[in-house]
Amino acid sequence: MSDAVAVIWDDAMLEYDLGGDHPLHPIRLELTIALARTLGVFEAPAITRLAPIVADEELLHRIHTPAYIDAVKRAPHDPYGAGHGLGTPDNPIFDRMHEASSLIVGGSIQAAEWVWSGKGDHAANIAGGLHHAMADNASGFCVYNDPALAISWLLGQGAQRIAYVDVDVHHGDGVQAAFYDDPRVLTISLHQSPLSLFPGTGFPEETGRGAGIGTSINVALPPRTDDGGWLRAFHSVVPSALRAFAPDVLVSQCGCDAHRDDPLADLALSIDGQRASYGAMHDLAHEICDGRWLILGGGGYGLIRCVPRAWTHLLAIVGGRPVDPETTIPAEWLEDVHKRKLRAIPPTRMTEDESAAYTPWEPGGADAIDAAIQRTRRASFPLLGLDPDDPRD
Ligand SMILES: [Zn+2]
Ligand SMILES: [Zn+2]
Repeated sequence: MSDAVAVIWDDAMLEYDLGGDHPLHPIRLELTIALARTLGVFEAPAITRLAPIVADEELLHRIHTPAYIDAVKRAPHDPYGAGHGLGTPDNPIFDRMHEASSLIVGGSIQAAEWVWSGKGDHAANIAGGLHHAMADNASGFCVYNDPALAISWLLGQGAQRIAYVDVDVHHGDGVQAAFYDDPRVLTISLHQSPLSLFPGTGFPEETGRGAGIGTSINVALPPRTDDGGWLRAFHSVVPSALRAFAPDVLVSQCGCDAHRDDPLADLALSIDGQRASYGAMHDLAHEICDGRWLILGGGGYGLIRCVPRAWTHLLAIVGGRPVDPETTIPAEWLEDVHKRKLRAIPPTRMTEDESAAYTPWEPGGADAIDAAIQRTRRASFPLLGLDPDDPRD
């Protein structure tokens, strides 16, 4: 299916390191790339690996204020006067934070360029997806908002309509805010309800503003939503909305913190359910966007048991050669994990033996997930010309 795919990676991306025991530890990316490598994912004929190039500072101005960019640059030398959300437990100041953050942005722009220029159909930057960063401040472990910058760059290149689908367990608030009144960008976020999780936004009634009304969609799921419930919600909202909006490009933020073992949130997906979600987005990119698909990482704090497996599946799907869930994890990777003396017991297989089956949504369902689906469809579907009560829509 996929003919030419770029995977953007360089070990220099590990310099985005918030230090100490911060949950966004770069080891999650290191172990993901290592697992994908030992499973031969990068040997897929479709895949080209590209090293990222640092984004120009001028590009950052598309989303961020000059005062904020200046504060990020100065922060390592002036930690107490930084402001702009910097120097908090969530967003600690680290050496070369402007440079490291700009490299991640550069990777996402490079991925966007690959897709938009027609060099290939898909491009992935798993170090990207820093969706909480705001115009004037850092937030939720995110310094520069690479998804919003990549979308803005694509608009600047002439893209007319872009859809952003965010499956991170947290609301994609920074990206939604950047395009809240822009009718050219549809943002769809599926997340744990803001009543019980950071950042406290992402209610279904947040549907956009002004000319952008109808182009923000939020699915707020109850804690403990599992594979079946999550996939039912995804399939009851995302395909219809994408078909109605008819984007040129699909941008996916693939944060994997909706996993049941994630220490920061309370949804209950398995690796198998997450793999199914990536496959569904891949299919939609081909069906609706002629294959133009930009794939970004995001959250995910199950550093050893979740992120490496979830995103290895993701990269393999992107590369057109999926990894069989029954695959045994190679000893080489397990030894690497053991050598690091990490506390978690590493996984031994690429599956968690879940089926990823789901029951399609129908109106009138009585459980909390059906109620969440109905609330989103009622808030958003009429604005897209869809019938919220018709399961065919
Ligand atoms: Zn493909
Ligand atoms: Zn998250």
